[in-house]
Amino acid sequence: MSRPVSAPRGTRDLLPKDGPAWSRVEEIARDLSSRYGFDRIETPLFERIELFSRGLGESSDAVEKEMFRVSGAAGGVEEQSEWALRPEPTVGIVRAYLEHGMHVLPGPQRLWMIGPMFRYDRPQAGRFRQFVQWDVEVIGDPGPMVDAEIIELGHRFYAEAGVTDVIAYVNSIGDATCRPGYRAALIEYFGAHEARLTDDSRRRLRVNPLRVLDGKDLDPELAAGAPRSADHLCDACRAHFAAVQALLDDLGVRYEVDNRIVRGLDYYTRTTFEFFVAGRRGQQQALGGGGRYDGLVELLGGSSTPGIGFGIGIDRTVLAAAEQGVTLTAGTPLIAVVGADTDALAFRLKVAAILREEGLRVRVDGSSRKLGRQLESAAKLGARFAVLVDPLLADGIVILRDLEASEQREIRLDEVPGAITM
Ligand code: AMP
Repeated sequence: MSRPVSAPRGTRDLLPKDGPAWSRVEEIARDLSSRYGFDRIETPLFERIELFSRGLGESSDAVEKEMFRVSGAAGGVEEQSEWALRPEPTVGIVRAYLEHGMHVLPGPQRLWMIGPMFRYDRPQAGRFRQFVQWDVEVIGDPGPMVDAEIIELGHRFYAEAGVTDVIAYVNSIGDATCRPGYRAALIEYFGAHEARLTDDSRRRLRVNPLRVLDGKDLDPELAAGAPRSADHLCDACRAHFAAVQALLDDLGVRYEVDNRIVRGLDYYTRTTFEFFVAGRRGQQQALGGGGRYDGLVELLGGSSTPGIGFGIGIDRTVLAAAEQGVTLTAGTPLIAVVGADTDALAFRLKVAAILREEGLRVRVDGSSRKLGRQLESAAKLGARFAVLVDPLLADGIVILRDLEASEQREIRLDEVPGAITM
């Protein structure tokens, strides 16, 4: 026998045992997207490399270190032979927004998407090379109201998924007016303490000094003494940030201002935020994050247009819910249709079809095993109820068995849906 082929490193198979929790979390994301007035958008999983180097910045980790490149079929005739799997959703969405002239539609555009993202990083617990994000973007709204609205939306998502104790850490990293002054202050401060920086931080200091603050191994004492972006904001950015906080206070949303939330990508301006379970601020523990990107549309060739969005990690949300002991289930209880009479298979199928038409979730046993064995395997498969069909029963009558309580009664088939949803 030859050795089986395994999945690539950093990827995961979603197995049936994980299905209900994933389905439930995705269902919550879809439902909230609709309740908050977002419209669906889908973009390709791969894009031109240039889109990411322009949109995310050559110096971002996503472009410099983690880009997942794919090439076309060997010998294929293509105008181009290399692309990148998307590391994040925002630039692809902004590209589509411009390409399809969505900027002339009545705005702001409120868009949502769920799908896989790819980063060629070193896999670890909670860090995969392929992972799923739920993403929302609002393009054409300068805020500050929408900033608070989407942070509140993130909180509501975790609450509905049963993940408790979530905090949004928020910050403002200023804009083109005040960021240069802040950068200069960081260069001066970290430059004076260069000996205490890791090689990676020294590199960050040269290409994007803000990113020294979210470096993995930054000395906490050094971080605590670093200049704070909130102290370097211009008047307009300061007023914006104060308004966002006042709105969050009024909404009763749990948040804390944190100077280290600078986000990894060059396109962010003003409001930045990340969600964590309180007290769990490790590298691989961010549950989601986002921020404002008022310069991105212009950077990608459009006219100056503000935007804001977040990406929430579905993998990590499912893991956090499981860690907190939350059982997430999706759909209605499973029902097994069983019967002792092997001549009546068509009858079993017909009963199953009638129940399915009523929206119930049904598996039908087509075997000739004894009724007891069929009931046993129904329970093992997770069925909550069994419907026993027997041609000898009166027309339209079946036996409904509660597999947990081991109780059963004769019931009219059309009463089954009402009886099991009670
Ligand atoms: P980011 O834009 O990198 O902050 O990503 C947004 C969210 O996606 C994070 O807060 C995580 O929940 C999730 N995420 C990012 N990278 C990964 C990864 N490599 N594996 C699993 N989840 C991730």
